[in-house]
Amino acid sequence: MAGEPRVDCLFCKIVANEVPATVVRETDTVVAFRDINPQAPTHVLVIPKAHYRDALDLAAGAPELAADVLRVAGEVAAQESVTDPGYRIVFNTGAGAGQTVFHVHAHILGGRGLEWPPG
Ligand code: 5GP
Ligand code: ZN
Repeated sequence: MAGEPRVDCLFCKIVANEVPATVVRETDTVVAFRDINPQAPTHVLVIPKAHYRDALDLAAGAPELAADVLRVAGEVAAQESVTDPGYRIVFNTGAGAGQTVFHVHAHILGGRGLEWPPG
């Protein structure tokens, strides 16, 4: 069922403290932790604690939770001091776009120049 934990999901295991992570922010509904393979000086993943496959699944199933993820993304950017000059929030969606973990996550990338268009 949408939102239920999945036994085969890496990020559900991080939520359950079964896999360690460097958590930088946590609320009742959301957890933010450092990416294990950072692509920028600041590279934090923000996830809902509930399992949704991707951004659209989350927005359709729990729009208030999607808003929580975005709000925490902004709070992480502020605490990481990347709000100025700016940072990127990325939801890779689908394997062809580089999604490898199918528990929705916002990448917060900052602390270096960010090219546009991205690769
Ligand atoms: P995706 O490729 O799905 O957009 O992003 C998945 C991200 O999860 C990647 O950037 C990858 O480095 C990160 N990742 C994969 N396994 C782990 C892990 O065990 N711990 C942490 N903190 N990040 C992980
Ligand atoms: Zn999950």
